[in-house]
Amino acid sequence: MVLKEKRLPLMRMFQKVLYATDEVNLNEETSNILNLRDEFPNFVKRFENYFKRKNEWVLMFRRDIITRGNNTNNYAEACIRILKEIILNRTKAYNVVALVEFICYVWEDYLILRILDHAHNRRDNIQRNYAKLCSRTLNFNIDQVTLISETCYSVPSSNTENSVYTIDIQIGVCDCYVGYTGAFCKHQAFLHKHLNLSLPNAPPISVTERYVLGKLALGDKCPSQSWFLGLKENENGIQFQEESERSNIDNVVNHASNHIESFTRPKDILNKNDTNAFQSFANDEVASNNANDVLEKEFLRIKEFLNDVPLRR
Ligand SMILES: [Zn+2]
Repeated sequence: MVLKEKRLPLMRMFQKVLYATDEVNLNEETSNILNLRDEFPNFVKRFENYFKRKNEWVLMFRRDIITRGNNTNNYAEACIRILKEIILNRTKAYNVVALVEFICYVWEDYLILRILDHAHNRRDNIQRNYAKLCSRTLNFNIDQVTLISETCYSVPSSNTENSVYTIDIQIGVCDCYVGYTGAFCKHQAFLHKHLNLSLPNAPPISVTERYVLGKLALGDKCPSQSWFLGLKENENGIQFQEESERSNIDNVVNHASNHIESFTRPKDILNKNDTNAFQSFANDEVASNNANDVLEKEFLRIKEFLNDVPLRR
């Protein structure tokens, strides 16, 4: 039996084999484990058995499979858990007909609510992960992006000079390490944000993408696209971002239409005799009035929709 304090280092060694980047690295990590044969014979034996099927689980051998960055059966596990715990409430259906009814009606309603959660932007983690990816593209320049073919773009590498990554927006793949298996990488996030492209693996960020989810959930009963607008968005799907929260990530978002708006708060004037300070205050006042106009417009928009609430089934 392996002592408790020895288990973690062994697991780490196994992980290193799992994440090996090339053949040399793989051989090195494998031999590290095989050298433990005297100390942990059972562990090494078990590892050897698994290693015979390395093509199935060592990630470097799975790079040609479009996994969208998910190499586990998490989706299937989560689905079964939802079916057992939420849809069937940990009970047995009375008969097959009842089971079909649960799946057709209860599960359907559950899925509609979950899709609407995303359509109404209630899942913060989606926005956070997207902002995190975008924060890694601050040194990218939109002028360096080249359209290679109808569906392919090239984006320069942020780390290696004179190196570019190619992105196919139709399939949603990039030839960088992350995007190779179809995961949404920073290069795709950059194109998605600055060129307003739709990608098959992009999270539902813009109002158009969330409207599509609304259509999926509600069908003909889905309200118009503007219903899905957030208070800080306009029709083009531009997100206004709190400077305090994201100034280091993004400046005010610039869109293809060059439509730029921002909310500016009045700054404190320390010296009232300072003309520049007064000028600055005056500018801020103008910006503040603009912000009020925008706010007023939003209230009108909400009022307009009061009679247009989506119908629940
Ligand atoms: Zn990439």
